[in-house]
Amino acid sequence: MDILSQAEIRDAFVNCSRSEAAELPMPPGLHEVDWSRREYLGWRDPRVPQRGYVVVPTENGPVGIVLRASEASMRSHAPTMCGWCQDVHLTHDVYLYVAKRAGQAGRNGDTVGTLLCGGFECCENVRRTPPPSYVGFDADLVVADRIAGLAERARRFANTVVGARI
Ligand SMILES: [Zn+2]
Repeated sequence: MDILSQAEIRDAFVNCSRSEAAELPMPPGLHEVDWSRREYLGWRDPRVPQRGYVVVPTENGPVGIVLRASEASMRSHAPTMCGWCQDVHLTHDVYLYVAKRAGQAGRNGDTVGTLLCGGFECCENVRRTPPPSYVGFDADLVVADRIAGLAERARRFANTVVGARI
């Protein structure tokens, strides 16, 4: 994804007020982010453990989304697959994250949810070298495929929050 400044990150948020966007914590280590290896930016709120933030590139520019992990999903450790990276190795927790939709829909209480890696590890997950499982297996192709899938699913979610027809 393209490099974003702190101001651009704050400006991107669509489902919180301007003052909330001005105050939300920035991702830790922002100056060290390797943007070429990110399909989206995601981080947890250090003060509120169930709150997370993502910024997803879309055809209409970056979309920032405030997410809340459902308490039930944080407590249960039943194996679940992340809806974005679809990682099946289960090395970490997957939570049900819920986002208020942008604009009037969100003010009316309309939300949209997705199962998502608890610590937003998707971009690392899709780049993990897959085990060679059959003859003619092209690991680079598999990784490229996973990266494209992650970008597409994140973009689709962002568009749903914004209220675009998909
Ligand atoms: Zn994931």
